[in-house]
Amino acid sequence: MGDQALAMMDKMFARQELKQRFGKKIKRFEEDGVVFEDDSKLESDFTMFIPAGAGHEVVTNSDLPTSEAGFVSVNDFCEVTIDEKISNVYAIGDTAALEGPDWRAKQGHVAEVMAKNVAFNIQQRDKNSSERKGYQEHLNILCVMDTGDGAGFVFRDDKRAFMFPMPIVGHYMKKGWGWYCRNTKLGKFPRLPGM
Ligand SMILES: Cc1cc2nc3c(=O)[nH]c(=O)nc-3n(C[C@H](O)[C@H](O)[C@H](O)COP(=O)(O)OP(=O)(O)OC[C@H]3O[C@@H](n4cnc5c(N)ncnc54)[C@H](O)[C@@H]3O)c2cc1C
Repeated sequence: MGDQALAMMDKMFARQELKQRFGKKIKRFEEDGVVFEDDSKLESDFTMFIPAGAGHEVVTNSDLPTSEAGFVSVNDFCEVTIDEKISNVYAIGDTAALEGPDWRAKQGHVAEVMAKNVAFNIQQRDKNSSERKGYQEHLNILCVMDTGDGAGFVFRDDKRAFMFPMPIVGHYMKKGWGWYCRNTKLGKFPRLPGM
């Protein structure tokens, strides 16, 4: 997210009285918190563990080529190379190993771009066309972190990295986006162009 965003997040977390731990391995979870390798404990009312560092066992148990962490290796067009040839296997979204700048992050909108590109790329392949669409030019971080009483807006691409707080209104923007996203996906009403 960039240095400015991290400094801003520290302030946001401090204001919410959220405590943080970095660079310490988790030893175990307890009913009321998380215990680290040095036996320090982060107390919590509710613990959610989101293991972003390892691929799904369906992938790691398969013979697909993977990154060291177990995500499917793909090229810019989400195609998987098998036996040194581009195959008709594709991987999209969080299960794919993203390539790109250091700050790249798995994001919902990147997963959607990959999905649309793959539909297009399959169609082109079936037409014997060499035209393809890639995901890498769409890599950026766009995140609205809802804090219940507001939100933090984070953006990062090759040129810019910033974060700014959005008290009160940010919370309702995030809720509004969730509602809009869900209902347009369900086809209840059409999407606004470009959104
Ligand atoms: C806490 C958190 C906050 C995030 N915030 C943002 C944000 O602000 N902006 C943003 O753009 N992105 C954000 N992301 C990232 C975004 O959610 C993911 O990149 C996106 O959901 C990836 O989509 P996907 O379809 O690849 O995977 P998923 O959305 O994870 O979908 C995979 C689906 O497969 C199902 N599944 C798993 N195993 C099996 C199985 N064996 N059989 C059948 N189904 C199975 C799962 O239940 C799930 O429904 C966030 C992620 C997290 C965890």
